[in-house]
Amino acid sequence: MKQRVLITGAAGFLGSHLCDRFIKEGFEVIGMDNLLTGRMSNIEHLMPLEDFHFYHHDVSKYVHVPGSLDYILHFASPASPIDYLKMPIQTMKVGSLGTHNLLGLAKAKQARFMIASTSEVYGDPLVHPQSEEYWGNVNPIGPRGVYDEAKRFQEALTMAYHNYHGIETRIVRIFNTYGPRMRVDDGRALPAFFSQAIRGEDLTVFGDGSQTRSFCYVADQVDGIFKLLMSDYHLPVNIGNPNEVTIKDVALEVLALVGSESKLCYKELPTDDPKVRQPDITKARSILGWAPKVDRSEGFKHTLAYFRTVVQ
Ligand code: UDP
Repeated sequence: MKQRVLITGAAGFLGSHLCDRFIKEGFEVIGMDNLLTGRMSNIEHLMPLEDFHFYHHDVSKYVHVPGSLDYILHFASPASPIDYLKMPIQTMKVGSLGTHNLLGLAKAKQARFMIASTSEVYGDPLVHPQSEEYWGNVNPIGPRGVYDEAKRFQEALTMAYHNYHGIETRIVRIFNTYGPRMRVDDGRALPAFFSQAIRGEDLTVFGDGSQTRSFCYVADQVDGIFKLLMSDYHLPVNIGNPNEVTIKDVALEVLALVGSESKLCYKELPTDDPKVRQPDITKARSILGWAPKVDRSEGFKHTLAYFRTVVQ
């Protein structure tokens, strides 16, 4: 009998790469998505497989899955600042009601449960780099509050089910991740920069571009998530690439790689945009034996090849 895993957000960027990984590892995969921000094109290659099943469902409603489940990975959520500005209520519901439904399912099926948490739980951090012990600096009523607080609630609820019901749980705090299958129009920096450079448009740098991020290639991210799920560690673990860079420098890297004549054009910095972000991955290294392997120059080449196929 194959082990069975339920992955929510299966048609999304990270969810679809996770489905690929679990299929490759010999699992039977049940992918669930309401297609609010996910796209069937991300998983169409999996649809003919006997070991892949797709359920079109919104997990903030009661979730029914027939048969046994060994693992549940809750990766459904609008995940870019533009998306959760447009869909604030759905963002809060999938993180709160959705997490509650899936924890209930994990309890009923005696499945191990993992949630996709985020570096956004650290908010605009006052500690740098961010280790798992830092509690964060989050504005609950700002534009990012719907996402950040849903994710913080999700962590709290997951710990409550672990402590009260003895459910096996894992919490991954995902830092900025990029690669093929990112949506061109999700408003994130990298899809924006790649598509603008390919089209010969100016690159929209928000603020003065001195804010930093640390970008992790999707294959590394998926590997870290898989290792954490299979570990016996139930407290939060940061998974991300500690190689920190300013947004302006990233824009210049994209221009150079694309060979574009475009310029940078500066726009207003969005409210509560974190000024710095860099994961401390000491825990991932020591507990999981994981560290990222793909540097930006290599990851950007794969990403550019993908964006060239989808940008009009
Ligand atoms: N950003 C930018 N230009 C864009 C989109 C984003 O300069 O067209 C900036 C954004 O303000 C932030 C950084 O790039 O400082 C990373 O943004 P992203 O949306 O990728 O993710 P975040 O880390 O903010 O969730």
